Amino acid sequence: MLEQIISNVRVMGHHPLKDVGVADGKVVFVENSGAAKEWTANAVVNGEGGVLLPGLVEPHIHLEKAYLLTRMEKEAESLQDAIRMTADMKKIFTRSDMRERSLQVIKEAVRNGVTHMRCHAEVDPILGLSAIESALELKQSVRHLLDLQVVAFPQEGIFKSPGTAELMEEAIHLGCDVVGGITYQDPDLNEHLKFVFELAGKYNKPLDFHADFSDKPEDLAIVQIAKRTMQYGLQGRVSAGHVTSLGSLARVEAEAAAELLSEAGIHIITLPATDLYINGRGDEEKPRRGLTPVKLLQEKGVNVAIGMNNVQNPFTPFGKADPLETAWLLAVTAYLGGERDASRLLGMLTESASRVLALEGYGIREGAPADMVLFRERTERDVLLHKSETRTVWKRGVMVADTRIEREREIVHHMKDRGEDHR
Ligand SMILES: [Zn+2]
Repeated sequence: MLEQIISNVRVMGHHPLKDVGVADGKVVFVENSGAAKEWTANAVVNGEGGVLLPGLVEPHIHLEKAYLLTRMEKEAESLQDAIRMTADMKKIFTRSDMRERSLQVIKEAVRNGVTHMRCHAEVDPILGLSAIESALELKQSVRHLLDLQVVAFPQEGIFKSPGTAELMEEAIHLGCDVVGGITYQDPDLNEHLKFVFELAGKYNKPLDFHADFSDKPEDLAIVQIAKRTMQYGLQGRVSAGHVTSLGSLARVEAEAAAELLSEAGIHIITLPATDLYINGRGDEEKPRRGLTPVKLLQEKGVNVAIGMNNVQNPFTPFGKADPLETAWLLAVTAYLGGERDASRLLGMLTESASRVLALEGYGIREGAPADMVLFRERTERDVLLHKSETRTVWKRGVMVADTRIEREREIVHHMKDRGEDHR
């Protein structure tokens, strides 16, 4: 007996329509529609020709500093201003405050189809390990909704903020999944890189950097990161967010850097909402766009994923925890407007991001965990164009969100309020 069949769906946009069977939290078959009639299921969800994707993967987000707009007296004027403003606000973060805002992001993200997430929790003398502990607690308590990876992230620098080195190691002891690094906070880049690579090596953890977040072509810490990745034999286990300075390099130099990143198996995470908002503003005329060169990187074989980074704070006073919104923004600003580009973008939210998180058995195929999101649009391009409002989300085979049902409830409620419900 099957738990569910999701019928008449386009799996990753392909024809013909498929039926997907789910039992014990796993996909047990993907067959042409109607071909699996001998099965009986507890529930059948008719996908009506809509696109079924594996659960969306959010590879780079900050939970404990989300939703700060009402606490800000002004908007940030630069990256360093955003860091300073947030450091000030962090002084009065409490555990329940961090938990509440983090949970709000997670719930929104799940409604939007996210089934896996990697968050960067801050480690510094201001917060100590409280943000780490909050994230690790959430990792357990939201397991039924999504799988959360926690990065120990030294936002204030490791050597610039004495005490952080020790806290980083404690954070890994507490159970963080990933060692975080940041290339633009400590005065000595090599000292910083040496520390985080050695910590990752000591505890056999992957690394995830905030790197080269500027428009300055001379900021090329990513080259050092790639070289060290090969020295330490960590190919495929190192990621970097932002890396926007590559977008300001001359083409031939950017190509050489991209080839090196490809060779070192570095995953790049573009964070368009933050990058577009913060970068370029130092240019008094002809402002640069400030994105990493997505197409060039992909042409050279680099795995590129898309992240939200922040939700409503000084770094990014926008966002509603929706990966489709971020992908749409990248489509507009990175000239990715074609039909194939829509598939490429959805691939970056799913398959590419799953490689960043090193997820095993990811995808819609027999034996894989039944983590899926169903859109009612018939094509991937429409999913992106409409930033689809109707999404049904499954985590390990359990339906955890169905915005179509919510919308119907809202409409009925609205009609009742207006006395239009004559049933
Ligand atoms: Zn970030």
